[in-house]
Amino acid sequence: MAKLNKYRPFNPNPEMVARLPDVTGNAINGVGETQQRRPELVFWAPDPDDIAFGDVQKWFYMCQPDSPEMVTERAKRKVVLDSVLPDVNPVALVQSPDEWTSSLNQFVEAGDCEMVGATAMNPKWFFEGQKTEFKTVIMMGVHHDYEELKHAPEFRAGIEVVRQYGRAAAAAKKITAWLMEQGWDAEAVTGPMAGKLVMIPPALECGFGELGKHGSLINPEFGSSFRLSAVLTNALFASTPKREFGIDEFCSKCRICEDACPPIAIEPDKKMVRGEKRWYVDFDKCIPYFAENSGCAICIVECPWSRPGVGINLAQKLAKRSARDRCD
Ligand code: SF4
Ligand code: SF4
Repeated sequence: MAKLNKYRPFNPNPEMVARLPDVTGNAINGVGETQQRRPELVFWAPDPDDIAFGDVQKWFYMCQPDSPEMVTERAKRKVVLDSVLPDVNPVALVQSPDEWTSSLNQFVEAGDCEMVGATAMNPKWFFEGQKTEFKTVIMMGVHHDYEELKHAPEFRAGIEVVRQYGRAAAAAKKITAWLMEQGWDAEAVTGPMAGKLVMIPPALECGFGELGKHGSLINPEFGSSFRLSAVLTNALFASTPKREFGIDEFCSKCRICEDACPPIAIEPDKKMVRGEKRWYVDFDKCIPYFAENSGCAICIVECPWSRPGVGINLAQKLAKRSARDRCD
């Protein structure tokens, strides 16, 4: 039997409801559409006035309490974002794609990020109206401190999210600067206002994990307890392999996040979204709770893969089961 959900029923604040646009977020996201198309920016716009849900994005900030800790974390991230990059070295380093990709490990070893991978650019990862000339996407993942994130949906978890977005931005800027010093132009793309690139598809392609029912990536080591950033460049990197761990099937039999979600936004079955059948979170149910509760993150915290040490054990059990099934 499902655990009693202390956050239900959720009734959105009428002031937030008054800010909702006429169009639904699910329509913007292309739910039910059978044709493939590029995504449209639905939330986290660099300029909220550019999107239909811009007034809700502003509401997110209006709901946040005054907090010196949050001010500090946002200021630290701004320093990173404003940091000046070096000029592109006129002498370009030439090395093999494998050597480029191997050299990314230095950033994990230095503690800038916990995951790094690379893949060839796919224009469909760019939001409608955005384009790029770069040929490679490098993805970084930074791990949350679960002891902080577990307080979701309290503001304390929201501070941890901003803290890790700051780390992810710092990693992206450092890798961008390094590429420029090697003679290759590059561009950092950092969240949450990434603006041009949808982060999850290239991270999937880089082998960071699988898409979970809660709409976030799941990695065996870090669960969903991590944030992403990206670097675009023309240096040609060997692609890190896409990996599957049996998480997709695991999600089809698990409903922990569905039961934990206060506004019952997590769809139990896959939906057709812009020509692809995939797990989907009902944007229009999620966003009122998300906006009023510091970005929520309950589904990420409650997912068993996110609990420290649990994901690795689950992945090992699934791998053993799959090997047994192959032998039978
Ligand atoms: S809580 Fe369960 S169903 Fe939800 S994403 Fe995690 S494993 Fe999948
Ligand atoms: S973030 Fe959205 S989908 Fe996840 S638990 Fe909160 S309201 Fe539900």
